[in-house]
Amino acid sequence: MSGWIAIAGIGPGDAALVTPEVSQALAEATDIVGYAPYVSRVPARAGLTLHASDNRVELERAAHALQMAASGRRVVVVSSGDPGVFAMASAVFEALEAGPAAHRELDIRVLPGITAMLAASARAGAPLGHDFCAINLSDNLKPWALIERRLRLAAEADFAMAFYNPRSKARPHGFARVLEVLRETCGEDRLILFARAVSTPEEEMRVVTLGEARPEMADMRTMVILGSSRTRLVERPGRPILYTPRSAA
Ligand code: SAH
Repeated sequence: MSGWIAIAGIGPGDAALVTPEVSQALAEATDIVGYAPYVSRVPARAGLTLHASDNRVELERAAHALQMAASGRRVVVVSSGDPGVFAMASAVFEALEAGPAAHRELDIRVLPGITAMLAASARAGAPLGHDFCAINLSDNLKPWALIERRLRLAAEADFAMAFYNPRSKARPHGFARVLEVLRETCGEDRLILFARAVSTPEEEMRVVTLGEARPEMADMRTMVILGSSRTRLVERPGRPILYTPRSAA
């Protein structure tokens, strides 16, 4: 049987949010490749080899996956959420572009998943119901100045904004600066959602104003969603609903 490679999104955490297409690829695979915490979400079984790696070795991981597929293995590269959103699909294509020409003949598929911003948004209501953008706040792969420029331009355009990778131990100060820039451009009253570990037993949801927001409210398991100027809260028994109306003035 000839090899293939599927780059699959395993969703935000809950097994019910893994698509049937991804489950089927996992069931047919001989090898699973990915960052250790994501690989550990794939149930072990006879005939399946798990290749868990560290977070910062995406390109090597991708090249390894391509080599295995070329040698006839059925390889699934796993990402949390969706593999096309700040994740492994681009890393595999970078490795493909830079690697041996023969790899371009491989059977390669990208299998979408439910990305964190959509899972978080659904839990909170519909904060992304009008125009929005998504920004990765890590400066591992881009200069900090570019992040600030994009924040300011997105604020000027009055987008709702979904922020991935808001804050890590290696980058404790960046997010404090992000909140400063947002307060300057959007004002103290703008609503902001901190959605942590969505769809897992550790899930925590918190909506505050930018004036109340603190850097410690976010960590690497948190999705941060800033509302646009139109985003509002609907009070009701229990948690209020955060949503952005479909129309703009
Ligand atoms: N490919 C992934 C994103 C990878 S970047 C996706 O599509 O979701 C990793 C970041 O995603 C984390 O720092 C966090 O901001 C966000 N994230 C991933 N899973 C999450 C979850 N269950 N709850 C909240 N945020 C999550």
